[in-house]
Amino acid sequence: MKKPKSEGVQKAGDLPLGFTAQPGSTVAFKTGDWRSVRPVLDKEKCVYCGFCYYYCPDGTYEDMGKDEKWYKVDLNFCKGCGICAQECPKKAITMTLEEV
Ligand code: SF4
Ligand code: SF4
Repeated sequence: MKKPKSEGVQKAGDLPLGFTAQPGSTVAFKTGDWRSVRPVLDKEKCVYCGFCYYYCPDGTYEDMGKDEKWYKVDLNFCKGCGICAQECPKKAITMTLEEV
């Protein structure tokens, strides 16, 4: 069976070259839009060690403070890489498929 052509799909060479003009300017965009899995925290298992906060390459975790004792992820910027779940010593973070 012949594979149908995908409309609107470009080859990498057809895409315009781009760059980030100003450091920190991506804060203005929701760069987590294309995430396919999200980290879900089990607060019961969390020991507030901060590994997720420090290992996240996008700096998406917010420290909720000594009274709350957990870290909240900002899904507007999380890419779903899974590093936080991998590094969590208590396996308190589960990567879960996004619903479409
Ligand atoms: S790495 Fe795991 S145990 Fe540590 S603060 Fe993050 S979720 Fe909690
Ligand atoms: S999945 Fe990746 S980007 Fe998202 S919070 Fe965890 S480490 Fe950060």
